[in-house]
Amino acid sequence: MDAGTTGAIGAVGPFEADQPMPPVIAPLAGRTLAVGKSTDLMLRPGEVVLSFDDGPRVGKTRAILDALDAYGVKGVFFMVGQSALANPKIVQEVALRGHAIGTHTHDHGDLSELTRPEALAAIAKGEQEVAAALAPIGLHPDPFFRFPYLSSTSFLRASLALEDRVIFGVQIDSSDYWDSTPAEVLNRTLARLDAAGGGIILFHDTHERTVAMLPDFLKALAERGYEVVSVVPTSDALFDRPLQVADSGFLRGGY
Ligand SMILES: [Zn+2]
Repeated sequence: MDAGTTGAIGAVGPFEADQPMPPVIAPLAGRTLAVGKSTDLMLRPGEVVLSFDDGPRVGKTRAILDALDAYGVKGVFFMVGQSALANPKIVQEVALRGHAIGTHTHDHGDLSELTRPEALAAIAKGEQEVAAALAPIGLHPDPFFRFPYLSSTSFLRASLALEDRVIFGVQIDSSDYWDSTPAEVLNRTLARLDAAGGGIILFHDTHERTVAMLPDFLKALAERGYEVVSVVPTSDALFDRPLQVADSGFLRGGY
C-alpha cells in the first residue's frame, strides 16, 4: 500500500480543516510512589491519590474496580477488618487487580474514644482480619492505615509510626457519605480538588452514589490534566512483624 495515498503520517490534504483534532487527553495514570513513612506521601501539584474507605462491600467494590480499570489507574482501599473477613473474595480481588490495601480498624470505632490498649487492639485486629482474608492467596495488606473519622491521638500516631505504619490523611473529602446525588458528589469533589490543586482524595466504596459518579469523575480528571499516583510500600517485609499491642514500651510505661 502506498502511504502517500492513505492519509498516513505526513500526508497533507485540504480535508484536514474539516476534521478537528480530538482534544488531547493525557494518560490519567501517573507515577508510582513508594511510601515507607507518612512524610513520603508528598504529591506534586496536579497529582492525586484515590482512596476508598470502609469496604469491601458486595455490589459496590467490584464496580469501583471496574471504573478504575477502565482508566488504568490504581487506588488505595482502607478496609474495615470485619467487612474483610465477611467478604474475603472481594479483598483478594482488590489485591489481585493491583490496588493497595490498607486497614481501617476492626469495626470502625472512634479510636479517640477508647483507652490506649483498646485502640491499639482495634487497629491490630483490623490488620489481622484483612491479613486473614488475603492469606489464602499468599498476599498481605500494605502497612497503610487511616483513622476512622480521621479521629486520632498523638499517642496512636506515634505508636503507629514506631511500627512503621504509614498514616494516610485526606486533602480532598468527597463527602460522599452525605445524602447527595451522584452529580452533587462529582461537582463537589471536583470543586474541592481544583481549589486544592491535588492531593489525597477520600471516597467510600460503600455508597451507590460513589459507584455512579466515579466514571465521570475519572473522565473529568483526565480532561483537567490530573495524574493519579499509585502508592506502594517501600518494603514488603513488614507483615513478618505484626503490630505489637500487648508488649509495647508505651504500655509498660503505664500509659
Ligand atoms: Zn471510614
